[in-house]
Amino acid sequence: MATHQAKSIGKTDYAPPPVEGDFYRIAAVLNDSERALLKNVREFTEGVIAPVIEDYWSRDAFPFEIIPKMAEVGIGGVGYQGYGAAGGSWLLNGLVAMELARVDASVATFWGVHTGLSAGSIYLCGDEQQKQRWLPPMMRFDEIGSFGLTEPLVGSATSGGMMTTCRREGDSWILNGQKKWIGNSTFADINVIWAREEDSNQVKGFVVRKDNPGFSVEKIKTKMALRVVQNGLITLSDCRVPEADRLQNANSFKDTAKVLRMTRTGVAWFAVGCQMGAYEHALRYATERTQFGRPIGGFQLVQDLLVRMLGNVTSTQAMMLRLAQLQDEGVMRDEHASLAKAFCTVKCRETVGYARELLGGNGILLENHIGRFVADAEAIYSYEGTREMNTLIVGKSITGLSAFV
Ligand SMILES: Cc1cc2nc3c(=O)[nH]c(=O)nc-3n(C[C@H](O)[C@H](O)[C@H](O)COP(=O)(O)OP(=O)(O)OC[C@H]3O[C@@H](n4cnc5c(N)ncnc54)[C@H](O)[C@@H]3O)c2cc1C
Repeated sequence: MATHQAKSIGKTDYAPPPVEGDFYRIAAVLNDSERALLKNVREFTEGVIAPVIEDYWSRDAFPFEIIPKMAEVGIGGVGYQGYGAAGGSWLLNGLVAMELARVDASVATFWGVHTGLSAGSIYLCGDEQQKQRWLPPMMRFDEIGSFGLTEPLVGSATSGGMMTTCRREGDSWILNGQKKWIGNSTFADINVIWAREEDSNQVKGFVVRKDNPGFSVEKIKTKMALRVVQNGLITLSDCRVPEADRLQNANSFKDTAKVLRMTRTGVAWFAVGCQMGAYEHALRYATERTQFGRPIGGFQLVQDLLVRMLGNVTSTQAMMLRLAQLQDEGVMRDEHASLAKAFCTVKCRETVGYARELLGGNGILLENHIGRFVADAEAIYSYEGTREMNTLIVGKSITGLSAFV
């Protein structure tokens, strides 16, 4: 929580109220032990991430030293049961995602790709033996995961158009193709790779180790968003994977979609967290920056920006709170997750834009944080299903008519 110096406005002492992005106190619905975990996440993000993140972001580098510290906080597999996972509810998972993104969306994305997309693929699509083998070291962050679905030529259309192939040869599978944008893949130990079987045309999932012959990764440089996340272009050239490393319960793209349904909610929570962080920085700035002899927060038009931001933060928090309840009840459907992902990321773009506006010229300086939020919001808006794709999923559900081409 920020502390403010009392300011003098004319003859009146001005002590700004505390800055609080959880206006409706949604974290209060957690139980005591869940709230304690969330407090640890806040201490981790404020104490470990915030002091270094601008430097890493500007250098397009990953702060490897945070991995053991993140492990200590105990946020591997929040929402999963067993296998050394943190457990807890999906609401807790969401609030952890929100807390991470409140300080930095890249660190949140690293966590989401590792424990969500990658470990989540094994959790949902692995057999018992595979889960026992891979999940405990991933939950401890001893082994880091990536998730390879998108390809250079096929992004939104992976469900029907995946070009990476697999074919069985004895006790092994041979994988060929490329995967683009794969977060963590420049250093991940465990790469979940999705490929279409040449014979059956069905999508299957594999765990490919980083030292597997035929597997290579090239770092994607020149990103203008989520610069701390290390995204790679993976090439699979006759990459041989044992049958034992094929996810035994991934039989078609429907199984891949189960993973995406689970993780899309996490991205929606990231969008909430980014808005919260941007709002809090903007509010603090509004009480500290003076123009015309008074804090700019005292101008009606600046308050309008702040209240619009807070409305976006609070409405998306409330939406996500209910969605997490549906998830915890086991009744959340694809279209529920898609609506949240699309809506919260649209609102996120709007909110971080207001925050940047409020900071004036200082809003584009990295050291004032907002510029990073503005850039990162662009990636969150597009990854794990663009707004258009998620709109088509919801549109099909509410009309009963598919507008997919
Ligand atoms: C920073 C970052 C991290 C990522 N991390 C990962 C990762 O770890 N693993 C992974 O597998 N992928 C990852 N991705 C890939 C991401 O999921 C894709 O970028 C996303 O799915 C969109 O695919 P595309 O970029 O190829 O866009 P395209 O599919 O080429 O779409 C381009 C535009 O066309 C629109 N469009 C496409 N089809 C239609 C249609 N039928 N109707 C209307 N509009 C349409 C899209 O909405 C979009 O606006 C990441 C991407 C980024 C930017």
